[in-house]
Amino acid sequence: MNSDCIFCRIIKGDSSAKFVYKDIDLVAFHNIRPDAPVHVLIVPVEHIESINALEERHSALISKMMLKAKEIAEELGIKDSGYKLVINVGSGAGQVVFHLHIHLIGGWGKI
Ligand code: 5GP
Ligand code: ZN
Repeated sequence: MNSDCIFCRIIKGDSSAKFVYKDIDLVAFHNIRPDAPVHVLIVPVEHIESINALEERHSALISKMMLKAKEIAEELGIKDSGYKLVINVGSGAGQVVFHLHIHLIGGWGKI
């Protein structure tokens, strides 16, 4: 938990978000500024700054995040229409929140 981190505050419940999933390892919530009709962020509970800070011990967690992305895509009805999974790594790539997250983006043509 890093109290300067917005995603840690959301996970702790100190800041609000529209959750679509929560368990002991990861959470998922809607992006406050969506770039598409569906824009969910899949976030590990552990404060990991980015892909660059990943360690071998995170292997199962990363795998779980990818599988959860697929499940959420299905639940939100975009599994077959198609979606993007994006991870920005570092400020040069557009990362602004330095707590690892996968963007699940899709739903074009649904609205
Ligand atoms: P990044 O650019 O770091 O890959 O993406 C961070 C994302 O987090 C941005 O798309 C931004 O809209 C989203 N975001 C930032 N602050 C909040 C917040 O307080 N709540 C929610 N739900 N999303 C946020
Ligand atoms: Zn954090």
